[in-house]
Amino acid sequence: MSHFSDYKDLIQADDWALIWISRDNIKPVKITAGATFNTRYGSFPHDDMIGKPFGSQIAVRTRGSNKFGFIHVLQPTPELWTLSLPHRTQIVYTPDSSYIMQRIQCSPQSRVIEAGTGSGSFSHAFARSAGYVFSYEFHEIRYEQARKEFEDHGLLQDGNLAITHRDVCQDGFAIQKGDKTTFFDDERLNESPSPVQINANAIFLDLPAPWSAIPHLDEVISQDSKVSLCCFSPCIEQVDKTIEALEKQGWTEIEMVEIQGKQYESRRQMVRHLDDALQRLRDVKERKQMGVERRKRMFNKLISDQEEPYEQRPETPKTQFNPFGKGSRVKEGDTGFQWKEVSKVESEIKSHTSYLTFASKIVNKTRDETLVAKLADEIRG
Ligand code: SAM
Repeated sequence: MSHFSDYKDLIQADDWALIWISRDNIKPVKITAGATFNTRYGSFPHDDMIGKPFGSQIAVRTRGSNKFGFIHVLQPTPELWTLSLPHRTQIVYTPDSSYIMQRIQCSPQSRVIEAGTGSGSFSHAFARSAGYVFSYEFHEIRYEQARKEFEDHGLLQDGNLAITHRDVCQDGFAIQKGDKTTFFDDERLNESPSPVQINANAIFLDLPAPWSAIPHLDEVISQDSKVSLCCFSPCIEQVDKTIEALEKQGWTEIEMVEIQGKQYESRRQMVRHLDDALQRLRDVKERKQMGVERRKRMFNKLISDQEEPYEQRPETPKTQFNPFGKGSRVKEGDTGFQWKEVSKVESEIKSHTSYLTFASKIVNKTRDETLVAKLADEIRG
């Protein structure tokens, strides 16, 4: 069972959960009867989570105080995993991965090649949407760590992902049956002839030198459907060399895109009137005048040797809310005031990351008339 794509209602022992402590502190945890999840806000027994619906808030009383600590126990998704995974490399974030997946039309019909696996961030997103994913990583330790994570998350056993320890620039993508560097658990692949029929129709290359891997793709891509490709490169020089290699290998529809993800905040802003500003100026002037007169009186008392020259400041009522200055807090949307809807855009771009070079290839351009007739019949019903 994939912990990342099979929907579940209730938390059970042996489930993976992502524990939301705060917006930038989400921890992956395997729910285990008798275990405890410790945070600085308190200790949360896993037994309190078992049987509750995913998404539940769990509270414990903080030791030595009357306050409560809270966590939320969430079902894992590729998006949350991207925010919580242990980084072993730079990773692809959701603003990029979601755009790439729709551009390369990732669907259950997709057979995806991904290289390199890196920290496995994008692999989880691909595994949820694609029919099958072939992921390649040449760094042995990263390969082992990713393999273990994929296994733990149920992507390998009866899953739809194969991971291969391979330098794809040197040795390409073909997988011979019985290849000891490839790890998968899928009957369809076990039964497939050697080399394994990869038939990839969606390719994602996040490599320092994609141009060296591109010539190897021809032996593993689908021969009878359109193949879409995306290369993810931080430097424009890499884009240049990649495009040169793509053109040389007959790839078409080449286009480069950069994603600039920004958050838009939508909120209400109080409508401020000129009369409010004038009232505020009158208030300030009046208070200043009162202060000047008080100081003048105290000075006169002092020079005429009166006993107690000091005069208490007059008690002023708590300032009513004034949109131009200090005052009591008003809750956004308070019906006693007038509001308008505004949106505010972040000035900084939160998701740089890389240039995305897209391309496509159709190997066999002849039309299979029998297939076309069959599909037309199906459409006509
Ligand atoms: N897309 C990944 C993610 O979202 O977690 C991150 C990929 S990381 C930036 C690039 C990975 O490619 C590294 O782990 C590196 O070891 C691997 N790599 C680089 N050259 C490679 C090659 N020739 N063959 C296979 N893997 C390679």
